[in-house]
Amino acid sequence: MNSPSAIAARPAIVNVHAGVHTYDVLIGPGLMAQAADHIEARAGSAKCAIVTDTNVAHRHLAPLEAELKARNRHVGTKIVAAGEATKSFPALAELCESLLGMGLERGGLVIALGGGVIGDVTGLAASLVRRGVRLVQIPTTLLSQVDSSIGGKTGINTPQGKNLVGTFHQPSLVIADTALLKTLPVREVRSGDVEAAKLGLVGDAEFFAWLENNWRSVFAFDDEALVRAVEVSVRGKAGVVARDETETGERMLLNLGHTFGHALEAWAGYSQRLLHGEAVAIGICQAYQLSRDLGLIDDAVVQRVTAHLAAVGLPTRVADISGDSKPDAATLVKIMGQDKKVRDGRLTLILAREIGTAFVSRDVTAEAVQAFLTRSLADEAGRAHI
Ligand code: NAD
Repeated sequence: MNSPSAIAARPAIVNVHAGVHTYDVLIGPGLMAQAADHIEARAGSAKCAIVTDTNVAHRHLAPLEAELKARNRHVGTKIVAAGEATKSFPALAELCESLLGMGLERGGLVIALGGGVIGDVTGLAASLVRRGVRLVQIPTTLLSQVDSSIGGKTGINTPQGKNLVGTFHQPSLVIADTALLKTLPVREVRSGDVEAAKLGLVGDAEFFAWLENNWRSVFAFDDEALVRAVEVSVRGKAGVVARDETETGERMLLNLGHTFGHALEAWAGYSQRLLHGEAVAIGICQAYQLSRDLGLIDDAVVQRVTAHLAAVGLPTRVADISGDSKPDAATLVKIMGQDKKVRDGRLTLILAREIGTAFVSRDVTAEAVQAFLTRSLADEAGRAHI
């Protein structure tokens, strides 16, 4: 195994090509110490605003802020509330006004220091303020390092559903310092494991098998395992983004489990009751179960996928969601009707042929999805009473 210092000295670099945009994703432990250098090397001597949340601020903000201040590059820091509720119109409006209030100029740069929530809302603000300023992503959760900081999707939630208002705004640089993950609560590590597993499930069976065998090292924050998990995920996602930046085809595959998951998340009110990754974990299990019911895969594949998610401690059934209230199938299908991928009123689902091979389907009617969910929820309730 490489020593942590050897890994830090040579960060992995993945180059992302998204339409006319090209940028580096730097991956390794300890990169934050040189973040200001990396930003200056790639984005010039721009003035920077930092956006972060309350949890990240007291753990990881001070060194970055100090470095930028020392170089006279800091225009201000906006600390927003932690959690999914920050992906909202009121929080977006306040953030845009704060960035303008700091005097951030058109040539300036916004640094999103945080998880997927910070990346998504800050990316959206960066795409709007002064008709667009540059963005650097410094993802601090496993989920945001393996997935959300790459590819330029920004967004907020509305009462109608998840991520329904947003833009594509590619970052100029992504700095994934894997050492920052060591302060993450285990529940958040699990949520990141889901998105990494998803990348394996849709296109890289070998990576899924690696995660099955090595997730304990990832959860123990082993430097080499973390770098590998992030690098393989980022390379996989970068490939998809290069081929389909604006999600008209292949990129839709990365929504495996998300149509079901987003409906559950909306039903749960985007609360701590059900984190994004947890909702996607249940959604992935449902997508595999539906694929099995349609005769596309054997039950053994469903069991294998479910076993990994359960092994790391994720919920795999609606019954696993805490609290007494549970959603019914009709409610979930109604919420799914707002999904961004609905075309001519038809749901777009990501289904599986095997591990590592997923495909986009518009052939399953909303009625068939409702019938599937009705069966699945009744099965769960039945099993709970055995
Ligand atoms: P998050 O940003 O809410 O972070 C999870 C929690 O961890 C928060 O409480 C946060 O304050 C805390 N935290 C962050 N970094 C920490 C650290 N280093 N140490 C301790 N605590 C830390 O959630 P997330 O799971 O990172 O991201 C989920 C969001 O990402 C969802 O809104 C989802 O829709 C979005 N997403 C976007 C894309 C995309 O392509 N844009 C892809 C996948 C998911």
